Amino acid sequence: MSDTRLYDLLGVKPEATDAEIKKAYRKLAKEFHPDKNPEEGERFKEISFAYQVLSDNEKREMYDKFGERGLREGMGGGGYDDVFSHIFGGGGGGLFGGFGGFGGRRRRRGEDLVHPLKVSLEDLYIGKTSKLQLTKNVICGQCQGAGGKPGAVRSCGSCNGRGVKVSIRHIGPGMVQQMQSACNVCKGEGEMISQKDKCTTCQGKKTVKENKVLEVYVDKGMKDHQKITFDGEGDQEPGIDAGDVIIILQQKEHEAFKRSGHDLYLEKDITLSEALCGFDMVITHLDKREIKIHCPPGKVIEPGCIRGVEGEGMPIYRRSTTNGNLYIKFNVVFPEKNFLDEDKLKELEKLLPPRPLPPKVGEDVEEVDLEDVGEAGATSSDGRQRHVYEDGSDDEASGHGPRVQCAHQ
Ligand SMILES: [Zn+2]
Ligand SMILES: [Zn+2]
Repeated sequence: MSDTRLYDLLGVKPEATDAEIKKAYRKLAKEFHPDKNPEEGERFKEISFAYQVLSDNEKREMYDKFGERGLREGMGGGGYDDVFSHIFGGGGGGLFGGFGGFGGRRRRRGEDLVHPLKVSLEDLYIGKTSKLQLTKNVICGQCQGAGGKPGAVRSCGSCNGRGVKVSIRHIGPGMVQQMQSACNVCKGEGEMISQKDKCTTCQGKKTVKENKVLEVYVDKGMKDHQKITFDGEGDQEPGIDAGDVIIILQQKEHEAFKRSGHDLYLEKDITLSEALCGFDMVITHLDKREIKIHCPPGKVIEPGCIRGVEGEGMPIYRRSTTNGNLYIKFNVVFPEKNFLDEDKLKELEKLLPPRPLPPKVGEDVEEVDLEDVGEAGATSSDGRQRHVYEDGSDDEASGHGPRVQCAHQ
């Protein structure tokens, strides 16, 4: 660990316990709270930030490993600002319910550029680096964003530099409508540069297009919809802070593995003999590793049951040592009918647990046969049923069953 600034801020050692951190924070927060100590606003902000990080196991671990820089990258969204908006959340949901006059105005910020990035489950298991090329506006290097030679830029006379014009229209007796529209002379810019003074590189636009390649590190254990933020890599524009480029991971469906949190799920068919007498099975994992699963004879696998393999699930993001679990659901495939003749079946029965005795019934009991009911049979009975519900008038003609009344709709 190289960076201990956040620990220093709270006056604790890097190996401090959660309780010690909490205690230290409480004491300092009281001391430097802006209500008591308005001059120490920045200090209080820092202390709150340190606590926000160190009281969260995941963030603390990230900080210990990667320092504040790593924290910034890992947090997604606005990094520090995210944390602050959380602590000082204006809506009163934050830690301190939002007290006013704190923090000050920031410069206007450009829009974030959001890009989806499709990744496979294998990518999220192993990790990978993707190169993403994007075109963005950057401040023109020739004129440093001025748009022309020094002094060439002058305020638009038509709109007095406001970029908009207000016109008043009479729409009836005593009624006027006020209309606001972009200035047609300066095209809403509020300033103008005469053609001959315009920067030759950007033609007075102040920015130029630039291609940029971003290296996106998809870390092991990242999730579908997880954001990876590149601070300030959005479009540049004079006088504003560039927004971020935000990559949003989109995980493609995997044909065998399903993911839920840190765990993986698989479905496997086994035969009845395997279910009863044991089996060995080889599964190719997401990193192409083969794992052999051994189920000893006699350890019966019931149809539809789920068994787990510890530690063979997804890696846990930024925790290199632990993985979730792998769960396998077993579908037991029964043999075809008539797979044994009657004599063999008798032998088989001797091996299986005894079946219950036949039930006692009266003399006049009616014996019926079990028929195969194919899917077609099921659909037709279902269809008929639906018909009766939809249109009661039809059922007299067809003569099927009792009339179904839909009293409650
Ligand atoms: Zn104008
Ligand atoms: Zn220029």
